[in-house]
Order: sequence, then structure tokens, then C-alpha cells
Amino acid sequence: MESPSGREHLDVLVVGAGLSGIGAGAYLESKCPWASYAVFEARDAIGGTWDLFRYPGIRSDSDMYTLGYSFRPWDGEKAIADGASILQYIKDTATETGVDKHIRFNHRIVRADWSTDEALWHVTAERTDIGETVEITAGFIFSCSGYYRYDHGYLPDFEGMDRFEGTIVHPQAWPEDLDYAGKRVVVIGSGATAVTLIPSMADTAAHVTMLQRSPTYIVSMPAKDPVARTLQRVLPKRWSGSAIKWFKAVTTQGSYVLSKRRPELMKRILRKGIERQLPEGYDIDTHFTPRYNPWDQRLCLVPNGDLFKAIKAGTASVVTDHVKTFTEKGILLESGAELEADVIVTATGLELLFIGGIEASVDGVPVDLPSKLTYKGMMLEGVPNFALAVGYTNASWTLKCDLTCDYVTRLLNHMRETGLRQATPVNRDAEVIPSPLLGLNSGYVTRSADKFPKQGSKFPWQVHQSYLKDYRALKMSGIEDEAMVFSNPAVPTAPTVPVAAAL
Ligand SMILES: Cc1cc2nc3c(=O)[nH]c(=O)nc-3n(C[C@H](O)[C@H](O)[C@H](O)COP(=O)(O)OP(=O)(O)OC[C@H]3O[C@@H](n4cnc5c(N)ncnc54)[C@H](O)[C@@H]3O)c2cc1C
Repeated sequence: MESPSGREHLDVLVVGAGLSGIGAGAYLESKCPWASYAVFEARDAIGGTWDLFRYPGIRSDSDMYTLGYSFRPWDGEKAIADGASILQYIKDTATETGVDKHIRFNHRIVRADWSTDEALWHVTAERTDIGETVEITAGFIFSCSGYYRYDHGYLPDFEGMDRFEGTIVHPQAWPEDLDYAGKRVVVIGSGATAVTLIPSMADTAAHVTMLQRSPTYIVSMPAKDPVARTLQRVLPKRWSGSAIKWFKAVTTQGSYVLSKRRPELMKRILRKGIERQLPEGYDIDTHFTPRYNPWDQRLCLVPNGDLFKAIKAGTASVVTDHVKTFTEKGILLESGAELEADVIVTATGLELLFIGGIEASVDGVPVDLPSKLTYKGMMLEGVPNFALAVGYTNASWTLKCDLTCDYVTRLLNHMRETGLRQATPVNRDAEVIPSPLLGLNSGYVTRSADKFPKQGSKFPWQVHQSYLKDYRALKMSGIEDEAMVFSNPAVPTAPTVPVAAAL
């Protein structure tokens, strides 16, 4: 289909073919069959995170019953699944729903300019394979671009890195042929990636040391969830997926709420869990007692206590100290101790990036993200016809993205039914106080907080981090509310899809 300017026109442009983008496509297929859409993907593969990360042991750190799509429940045995199975699940979903036919690989969206006169986006994409530029127009953009840079991870400027004679690896760029069997490995970091890597590498490495500046809360969970397994056995398949999802969503939310309301109680519960896993007399105070409250930063989950088993077996150990400098042989710590290593893994995290680095503007005025509020955590104040898939920090990403997809398809259908082509969240309440979007104080979040939009102190500008509240706000509530302004161009232009004809 062509726009009045002669360019290809899409009703909906989905950015990214990761877990969220494939979910968005599937919702469009089932709820907006009238819509022309394409999924523009910068890389040459489906899967996003689950294709990019290839480090040993890569797996989910939240349960798959809630990380899987609600329309295609995860029916695997394991609640915590390996990266390859998750990637396969995303690919199978794309094939089963027909979304795979709408993906345009090697297309990175770089610019998007909203024209109020035309009620459409002028979009520029770069062909990452042949270097050409593609220009199209779109009625609506649904950004499913994840939340971090793909070209590199976060790496602090450690002194003396170039002196180290061994191998330095970042988990985001894991060399396929890295041989660490029988080698001494130091993993810098104590986040989800570090605690995943360490037990996995410890199977064959001579020894793996986790070097952390400060401890993280770590919880051991059975890889196979007994309640989920029972529900899978006793309920018909069409009910079990939803029942398990709700069970996991509610219990996860319950533990989050308990952490926020009774942090001391939660600390005691978490400590008891760790005491049971570690050898008698282990220095839990130094290595596993964080200085913050549970859920001020993401809790790390380890399936079947695999990290603790490696520590108990002596194949892994923890050092809590600071890097002074890299040396030829390893790392000199601020305490004066030196850790010798053949391989150093810098599990130092991600560099956050919002809306895939797209430069967006509305009628020529650049969208200044830090000055924008998010509407229901999925649209931006003053930016028409633009939604984004941002998941939870305290629960599975897909729980929120599923609700967002459902809302976006309802919004699109509402606009089509009413013939109103522009939907813009507008804040008219001067009492709404902005605050950071993500309620975590982890280093990777605070480092980038100034590049992200904000949330507001009142509905619908708050980001709840609560599936139950979002279920009400996104799924149960009407599309029309005081903040959502529907309009048409002042001088009517022919809509690209004639509304009457399309109905
Ligand atoms: C190692 C790791 C483990 C994780 N484990 C969990 C977990 O267990 N549970 C959980 O809830 N979350 C987890 N997460 C968060 C995880 O990223 C999300 O769960 C989910 O995979 C995000 O899916 P997404 O499609 O939104 O983003 P991504 O997976 O990041 O995919 C985004 C896609 O968009 C493409 N893209 C980006 N910008 C553009 C652009 N401008 N133009 C075109 N294409 C673009 C990218 O190339 C990519 O393919 C994990 C993250 C990491 C890094």
C-alpha cells in the first residue's frame, strides 16, 4: 500500500522481532486482521535477547509460565528454561501465528517524524546489510526494541585492562570458541548473568571466582515448579496455562509486596534460604548480605541452588572486594590480594537504551524523552500513535507486554471504528509529579535514568510494577479517558486506509 507521498504505507510498524515484537505481531494477526503491518528488525535473526546472548548456561531468571505468551502458554516441564528453548519458543510462535512472514530483517529504524497534518509517521530505516536507506510511512509505531544497546554491553574503565595476558570476555559478546576447560576464571559481577555463568563454567573450569563489589539477594528455586506441574497434570490444557500464569503472577507479586512492606522479615526469609544451601560457618554476612532492601534491586534466582552447590563443591568461590587494577596475571584488589586468572569475564551489565535509539520528533520538534511522562507505562505524553513494550522489573517482562499488546490492539480498533486517526496522551493535571520510570536503584538503572522518560504520581501516568493493577488499567478499563485525546488532521487528508471502506 502507498501513502499520499508515494511511499509504502503500513497501518502499524512494529520495531524489533524479539519476544515482545513477535508477541505484538501475533496480537495484530488475531485482533486487528484488517491492519497492514511489518516487523522491522535491525539484526538478521528472530529472538532479540534470546538470540544475542550465548554465554554458558544462559537461561531465564523468571519463570517461563509468565515469561511465555498468554495466548501460547509455556507447557515445558521446566519453569526456568535455557536460552535455546526460549529462542525456539519465540521462533515457533512466529511461525505458528504467521508473524514470521511480516518480518523485515536487517532494517534498523533510525528516525520517525510524526506529521499532525497527515496523521502519520514518516519513518527512516537503515539497511544494516547493504547500507541503503528505506523510507516508509506508518499510521502507528509499536516499539518492541527492548531496553539496552545491542552493539556493546556496559564495561567500566578498569585500570590496566590492556596489561592482562589472558582472555577478557563480556557475556554480551561471548566467543563461540572460548575454551575455559581446566582454566582459572574470574567473573566480575554478581547480577543475574554472573550467577548463571558461574555454576555452568564451574563444571569444567579449574575454578571460578565470583568477584563482586557488593552482594546481591539470591534465591534458590526448584527448576521444575511443583504447583505448576500439578496444575498441568490435573487441568485441561486450555485452562492450565492461564491458571499457572495467574498463580505465578500473584505469588511473585505477593513476595514483592511483602519485601516492600516488611523488608526486615523478607531479609530473614532470604537469609534462612541461603543458610540452608551453604556450608556451616560460611561468611554470609560478607558475601550474601546486601546493603539494600530486597527488591530495591532485582532479586537473582538460581535454579535448584546451582550456584550454592558449586560453592559447596569448591569449584566456585566468592570474593567481595574492589578491583584496583588488572595485572599481567589477573586482578589486584583494593585489599591488596591478587586473583590470578586465565579468563576474566566482565559480567558488568548492559548499557540501557530507550526505543531502540530511534530519533523521534512530532511536527519537527524532537521528542525529549526525559521530559516526557509515560501513559500507563506504554505510551508517551504528547507523542501520538506511538506505544512501547516495556516489561516489569519485578516480574516477567511478558506479563506487562501482553497487556500492552492487548491495549494497543483495542486502541487501534477503537480508532478505526470511530474514524479518529490520532491518539495522543496529554497531561492536563499540574499536580502530577514526575519520578524515575523504573523503581530500582541498580547501577545499570541509575546510570541511565536521565535518558529515560518519567512516570507520574497519579493515574494514568504511574508505572505500577503490578500485574493486577495493570490488568485493571490496561485490560479492564475503557480506551477513552481524560488523558487520551483523539483527533483528526485539521485539514482532512485522505486516510491511507479509507475508514469506511475498511470497516
Ligand atoms: C541475559 C538476559 C536474561 C534475561 N532474562 C529475563 C527473564 O528471565 N525474565 C524476564 O522477564 N526478563 C529477562 N530479561 C529481560 C529480557 O530482555 C526480556 O525478557 C525480553 O527478552 C525482552 O524482549 P523484547 O523483545 O522486548 O526485547 P529484546 O529481546 O531486546 O529484542 C528487541 C529486538 O529489537 C531489535 N531492535 C532494537 N532497536 C531496533 C531498531 N531501532 N530498529 C529495528 N530493530 C530494533 C533488536 O535487534 C532486538 O531483536 C533478560 C535479559 C537479558 C539480557
